[in-house]
Amino acid sequence: MLVRLADIKTIGQLFQTGVLKAAAKHRYNANAGFLDRVSLFQGDITVMEVDSIVNAANRSLLGGGGVDGAIHSAAGRKLVEECRTLGGCETGESKITSAYRLPSKHIIHTVGPVYLRSDLETRAQQLESCYQTSLNLAVQHNLKHIAFPSVSTGIYGYPIEDATHIALDVVRRFCDSDAGSKLDRIIFVVWSNKDKEVYETLIPEYFPPQ
Ligand code: ADP
Repeated sequence: MLVRLADIKTIGQLFQTGVLKAAAKHRYNANAGFLDRVSLFQGDITVMEVDSIVNAANRSLLGGGGVDGAIHSAAGRKLVEECRTLGGCETGESKITSAYRLPSKHIIHTVGPVYLRSDLETRAQQLESCYQTSLNLAVQHNLKHIAFPSVSTGIYGYPIEDATHIALDVVRRFCDSDAGSKLDRIIFVVWSNKDKEVYETLIPEYFPPQ
């Protein structure tokens, strides 16, 4: 099964159909231009036919569990061979590879922080940097779409609400920046119903419809 860009609803469409509802509290002003450039999609990131998908990797970049394991097994052995040449990646940083057998063109591997209750500010900055450095790489490589899983919120234990605020805040600020116009679509990919609900609740605060 393949998921094409045309199959992925924009947040504008999700507002229209009532899946997303305007929030009482707005963290940013409305900007109608963003409504067709941001998406929320529930499903498997490995079947998405988009320019780039983000992998929630570990510092070795040699594969692991969760979404990382799914991406490596679907992409095939050539992915780990390319990853071996990269010399790992620091927490909060991102590196790009080909996507091999995946329908996407590239994989952007980002290393999220392991959530520990100490030094929360550093963890938050690292998670913010995962999203920012991934967006930067997509722009540098002239890629027009990027699909993000919910980095650090699986095995790495980052609370989903806190992580979603960070993801939405970085993406909204990116959309407002000069580089924002370089990407046609930024897709938040959720796996579980719970994560979908969190995104549905918080997206209207960052991307108000009006
Ligand atoms: P981390 O180690 O950064 O916490 P995980 O892979 O454990 O990364 O989890 C990150 C998120 O990816 C979780 O929300 C998890 O449910 C989700 N996830 C797992 N498999 C997939 C997949 N195939 N497609 C999209 N998201 C996935």
